[in-house]
Amino acid sequence: AKNKGRNRFKVFTPKMFERTIRRMSLENDMRRAIFREEYFLEFQPIVTLHDSRLTGFEALVRWKHPDRGLVGPAEFIPMAEESGLIIDLGHWVLEEACRTMVAWQKTHPAARNLTMSVNISGKQFSQSDLVDCIKGVLKKTGMPARNLKLEITETMIMQDAKSSIEKLNRLRKLGITFSIDDFGTGYSSMSYLQQFPIESLKIDFSFIRNMKTSQENVEIVKIIIQLAHSLGLDVVAEGVESEWHQATLAKLRCEFGQGFYFAQPLSAYRAEQAICAPQQA
Ligand code: C2E
Ligand code: CA
Ligand code: CA
Ligand code: CA
Repeated sequence: AKNKGRNRFKVFTPKMFERTIRRMSLENDMRRAIFREEYFLEFQPIVTLHDSRLTGFEALVRWKHPDRGLVGPAEFIPMAEESGLIIDLGHWVLEEACRTMVAWQKTHPAARNLTMSVNISGKQFSQSDLVDCIKGVLKKTGMPARNLKLEITETMIMQDAKSSIEKLNRLRKLGITFSIDDFGTGYSSMSYLQQFPIESLKIDFSFIRNMKTSQENVEIVKIIIQLAHSLGLDVVAEGVESEWHQATLAKLRCEFGQGFYFAQPLSAYRAEQAICAPQQA
C-alpha cells in the first residue's frame, strides 16, 4: 500500500530512471514468482499450412504479476537470462508443458500424435546437466519423448558447437526432436547446419511479415524453404497473420504455420478444446 502512494509521483520521474526501477523491482519479484505460482503457460497451435490441421502447440510462458498485471516474456525472459533465474523458470516451463500434454493425452487419443514445442534459452541449453534434467522431467511427468520438441537457436548451438551437437544427439536418442527457432536472425552457419541433428527450421516472423511489402522478401523466404528441404528439414513459418501469408507460404511448400491467422496463444482450457474441435481440412 505504501508503494502505491509513492507511485503517484512517477509522472515527475525521468523515463530512464523509472525503467531502471521497474526492472530492479521486477527482477526481485521474479524470484518469488515461481513458488507463488504467478507464471502460467499459453499454447499456440502449429498447423499444416495447406489444410490447417493441428499438429501441436508451442508453449509460451506468461507472468501474472500481482500488482502490475500481465508482464510479457519479451520483457522478463531477458531479465531471467541475465540473473540466472531462467534455469529454474525454464525447468518449470518444461515440466508444466509436459504435464499438460500428458493430461490431454489421457482424455484425448488425438493428442497422442501432437507435439509440444518448448523454448530453451541459451543459459539453459549450456547447462552441463541439461540432458539429465530433461530425462528427469520426462520420467516425472510420463511425457513420451517423441511428443516433445525443443526450440533452440543457431546462436546457442554455435557457442560451443561440438558439445552442443553431442547434447543434441544424446537427446535425440531419447526420441526428442528439435527445431531451430528464429531462423535467419542469428549467427548462421550453413556448413554447420547440416551437422545439427534437427528436424525443423522456424522462419522468424520478421521475414514472414515483410513478405507482403516486397517480392524480394518472398524470394528470401523461398530460399530458406529450399535450403531447409535440401537438408531434409521441414519448415514452420511464424507470424502467419493473413490468408495471403497462408496461401503464399503453402505455394512455396512450407509445411507448417503458426500465427494469428490460425490462432492466438490459447489458455490450456481453450487449447484442449482445439484438440477436440473438428479439423477444418
Ligand atoms: P518466439 O519463440 O519467437 O515465439 C513467438 C512469438 O510470436 C510469441 O510471442 C507469439 O505470441 C508471437 N506470435 C505468434 N503468432 C504471431 C503473429 O501472427 N503475429 C505476431 N506479430 N506475433 C505472433 P510471445 O509469447 O510474446 O513470446 C516472445 C518471445 O519470448 C518468444 O519468441 C520466445 O523467444 C520467448 N519465450 C516465450 N516463452 C518462453 C519460454 O517458456 N522460455 C524461453 N526461454 N523463452 C520464451
Ligand atoms: Ca519459439
Ligand atoms: Ca521468432
Ligand atoms: Ca525466440
